[in-house]
Amino acid sequence: MVDFSLTDEQTQWRNQVRKFTQEEIIPRTDLDIHGHFPKDLYQKAFEAGLITAAIPKTYGGQGRSYFELILAAEELGYGDLGVATSTMLGKLSTASLLNFGTEDQKTRWIVPMTKKLTFSSHCWTEPEGSSNLVGRPATTTAKPVPGGFLLNGAKSTISNATVASVFTVFARMNPGPDGLTCFVVPRDAKGVEVTNPYKKMGQRAADTGRIDFHDVFVPEADMIGKPGQGTQIGMRAIRASRVGVAAMGIGVSCRARDLAKVYGHSHFAGDGKALIQQQDFRFQIAEMEAEIEMLRALTWRACWEVENGPEAMKLSSSAKWAGGEIAVRITNRASEMLGAMGYLESGLAEKLIRDAKVLTIYEGPGAVQKMLIADVACRLGAGLKK
Ligand SMILES: Cc1cc2nc3c(=O)[nH]c(=O)nc-3n(C[C@H](O)[C@H](O)[C@H](O)COP(=O)(O)OP(=O)(O)OC[C@H]3O[C@@H](n4cnc5c(N)ncnc54)[C@H](O)[C@@H]3O)c2cc1C
Repeated sequence: MVDFSLTDEQTQWRNQVRKFTQEEIIPRTDLDIHGHFPKDLYQKAFEAGLITAAIPKTYGGQGRSYFELILAAEELGYGDLGVATSTMLGKLSTASLLNFGTEDQKTRWIVPMTKKLTFSSHCWTEPEGSSNLVGRPATTTAKPVPGGFLLNGAKSTISNATVASVFTVFARMNPGPDGLTCFVVPRDAKGVEVTNPYKKMGQRAADTGRIDFHDVFVPEADMIGKPGQGTQIGMRAIRASRVGVAAMGIGVSCRARDLAKVYGHSHFAGDGKALIQQQDFRFQIAEMEAEIEMLRALTWRACWEVENGPEAMKLSSSAKWAGGEIAVRITNRASEMLGAMGYLESGLAEKLIRDAKVLTIYEGPGAVQKMLIADVACRLGAGLKK
């Protein structure tokens, strides 16, 4: 049999993140304000080992396993999806350096991130559209010059951009090999301009900004991997991170379900019985429960595949797609179950809907995930039972 039970260490870690969520995130009333980044909360998340959870112990991080990160993403997603995004982003934003960087690069860029609260960003998206950055092709370019490269272009809607000190940037080498090349760029490099021009529908506790590069010099020593290897580097990072998005979808779905349950226990129908005793209400909770369990099973399987299996891309995209869809469906359903309260700011459900919506967009919208799944699923012979 497949064993789904958590080890003592995993249980302890999950409970630790759950306690952090209950004590530090849920009581906050300032997590839904445009342009307000609750830095004191992130300082506490850093001290609790959450921000550096994905960084191996060798480089001063917490060295949490990939599965433990998935558990943490669910717990934080229960508290606030914006906080979950900014906190767990380290898994994505340090992945390129950790997977493909040299020891020198890891020592210079990763180790300092573990000494004090430091954010980093994964800079792929461009204002002209990012789903096919290779084919379009990317407008951010890296021009070879003596000793390094000159970066020009813009990266838009980048998480943690205005608070980050380090960016991993995907640019087109011109002239150079096809495909993208990955670079590490400090925020204080000459020619880097960071702005926050966005007012987001939700996840307002997460920072999202734009970075413009004006003749930014990047030394050769700060190219990650080889010229033209950026697409491979970026895909490997995002493949792992997408499972985290699915886990955050579980978290927010559980929060919406709990909200509906509490309402159902404290409000009454015409027959005098609590809503929670009415069959239609109970069936809605039952469907939520079943969808949450389906999503958790898929997410954990995807986590295993990304680490060990041959079906990593298919499963990570499946979990990411399902995570967004289920989170949107369950938060919407909870809002209806709360009646008028589901539509009021004071009722929380409307915030959960707004926060959850971006799970279907960032790290690749539905069409992108389905393209990746279809690449495997539509092969003649794929999935046929022998
Ligand atoms: C809050 C937030 C945080 C973000 N954080 C980051 C970050 O940290 N780093 C980063 O790099 N990016 C980040 N993004 C960007 C995000 O990943 C992209 O917005 C997303 O992947 C979609 O890309 P796009 O906006 O360029 O849309 P496009 O690529 O222009 O896509 C627009 C629509 O067209 C559809 N589409 C695209 N190609 C096809 C096709 N071939 N066939 C059919 N339909 C297609 C898409 O599914 C989508 O619905 C963030 C976005 C948001 C909103």
